[in-house]
Amino acid sequence: MDHATASSFLGISGVVWFWALTVVGVGGVVFSLSRRFSLLRMGRAEDRFDRFGERFKHVLVYAFGQKKMFDDPFAGLYHLLIFYGFLVVSIRTVTMVFEGLFAGLELPLLDTGIGHAYLFSKDIFEALVLLGLVFAVWRRGVQRKGRVIQSSGAWIVIGLIAILMLTDLASEGARIAAGAIDGNYLPVSALFASLLAGFSGDVLQAVYSWTWWIHLFTLYVFANELPYSKHFHVYTSIFNVFFAKLDAPGKLPSMDLENVDENTRFGISTITDFTWKQMLDMYTCTECGRCREFCPTTLTDKPLQPVLFLKSVRNQLYKEQQELISSPGDGAPGSQHELVPVVVDPEVIWACTTCRWCERACPLDISYVDKIVEMRQNLVLEKAEFPEEAQPAFRGYEVNGNPWQLPAEERGKWAEGLDIPLASEAGGDFEYLFFVGSPGSYDDHGKKVSRALAKILKAAGVKFAILGPEEASTGDAARRLGNEYLFQTLAMQNVEVMNGYGVKKIVTNCPHAFNTLAHEYPDFNGNYEVVHGTQLVADLVRQGRIELTQAVDLDLAFHDPCYLGRTNGEYDAPRFLLNTIPGLKVREAELSRDRSMCCGAGGGRMWLEEDLGRRINQLRFDQLRATGTQEVAVACPYCFSMLSDAQREGGLEDAQTVDVIELVARALEA
Ligand code: SF4
Ligand code: SF4
Repeated sequence: MDHATASSFLGISGVVWFWALTVVGVGGVVFSLSRRFSLLRMGRAEDRFDRFGERFKHVLVYAFGQKKMFDDPFAGLYHLLIFYGFLVVSIRTVTMVFEGLFAGLELPLLDTGIGHAYLFSKDIFEALVLLGLVFAVWRRGVQRKGRVIQSSGAWIVIGLIAILMLTDLASEGARIAAGAIDGNYLPVSALFASLLAGFSGDVLQAVYSWTWWIHLFTLYVFANELPYSKHFHVYTSIFNVFFAKLDAPGKLPSMDLENVDENTRFGISTITDFTWKQMLDMYTCTECGRCREFCPTTLTDKPLQPVLFLKSVRNQLYKEQQELISSPGDGAPGSQHELVPVVVDPEVIWACTTCRWCERACPLDISYVDKIVEMRQNLVLEKAEFPEEAQPAFRGYEVNGNPWQLPAEERGKWAEGLDIPLASEAGGDFEYLFFVGSPGSYDDHGKKVSRALAKILKAAGVKFAILGPEEASTGDAARRLGNEYLFQTLAMQNVEVMNGYGVKKIVTNCPHAFNTLAHEYPDFNGNYEVVHGTQLVADLVRQGRIELTQAVDLDLAFHDPCYLGRTNGEYDAPRFLLNTIPGLKVREAELSRDRSMCCGAGGGRMWLEEDLGRRINQLRFDQLRATGTQEVAVACPYCFSMLSDAQREGGLEDAQTVDVIELVARALEA
């Protein structure tokens, strides 16, 4: 026996059988993939064919580098072993297929130094894959990590991969034992050979031919099973990572409201309203459950668990596959089956806080928030079906430009007597526009923080102005509650005012306003350099333009706002300020920085009731309190509201929640 040894046992009839097996095996895969591809083409258009260089880099880091997998080092390790092992072994598998198809075909490369080096590494990788499978069995069967969705399919795939590895090692072992090949460059197969030592040539030939056939038969079974299981990601994951969203994570796509007619579909109502990339996300989910591990709605027993939501829409997609792809050619009507409430409970759609933990966690770059917000858009704009508590907020935005429903002319009242110029009076003589936002304008505590930031900016000699009654809410919550019309109206109104005053730089103390102004207003011709209050103030301290000299005697835990931290990557500025204030002790919660848990207010949830499960703010406060203090520092007005409520609800009337900017202002006082 040698490397092209298939010819020595297949014979003519064996080759014919192998051709038949290959035609069925490969044909089945092509058939399944072509149907899945046709289905994908039923999705809405979405341009993900830009920025190729960035996309290749993204694939290198997240697909081949497996960057996010190592958030869970144990799972990351065994997945890495299986992933790379599979890549290396697949080269040998392809050569085996060619041996079978063209019996007698010599593969001289395998008998060269390069071939031996490859076979050596292939042998080692096969052992590593088996080791990875042992870890996977332990993780699924013994450790049973709660986030993972248990399924029989996972066990089948583990079994199939094990068969693939073991049969290849056994077939090589038989050849070594028969003296047909040298075992020096196949160290693991040589171990199998030692088990076969002493058997006759006929037995070794039989072992070789049986393991060869089982290996290739298993390969075709495996390849055909993938498109029908959560392991479809073996085919799709690299594409999914390649076509990932490269825009700022917090930027929602803008709906075209200029060209609306009677056929316009607002948001997502049926399965074919998802874009092709959103469908590719569905194909790619491996049900690892990382997305639900620290999802606030999952942790507080609400109906939304991201992976289960995705599974339900994926099941619907597959259920409708036959009907959809047999629809006649161009102009096919798409799905006629509404997703809400039959496939997806409305409570699932309204529960999301848009905190993006799920997207941060997903190793395959699957997105959730865009899908959920687009489903809200359909409910709001087409069906007028939304939680009734959202109605007053929508009305407030419409009538007064703020969800508090307070008069627009009172927006600048917090600044009375502080000698803060309005942009209309400043004649362009300001560096920063202080975009105050609705909570900073109307909420009692928010107003205190606005005054604190104004005081700091003045102390540092920063020239700034406010819009006063000309400012309207950015519309962040309206947009995330699905009211795109309202959002765009507010955005265009604000942009017109700001562009009229030649605004170039904006500082805001609200992370939601920060995200929307920085990433979403450019779609409406609003292009500004936007900084969060903590970022600007941290720079002022670093430049020596202000000094924090007064001790603040507090011991507190810092809560990262989702829209400043996970969504916009700013973790250090607020920490720098807290650590610079004399006398202040800062504690870190176990879930902090990019693993921080949401306070429950994002995604417009600030304006909705929370009737199901435990309250998210209370769970978050408990996590902060577990650091050993009851005092909390925040950098977001909504987080302030949720966490101070949690303190009160917990009977801790004396405990404080304070904004970082307030603390800086206190430390300035001389
Ligand atoms: S965005 Fe947050 S709340 Fe919404 S599904 Fe993801 S983790 Fe859960
Ligand atoms: S969406 Fe991502 S993180 Fe969630 S289960 Fe699927 S693959 Fe895992």
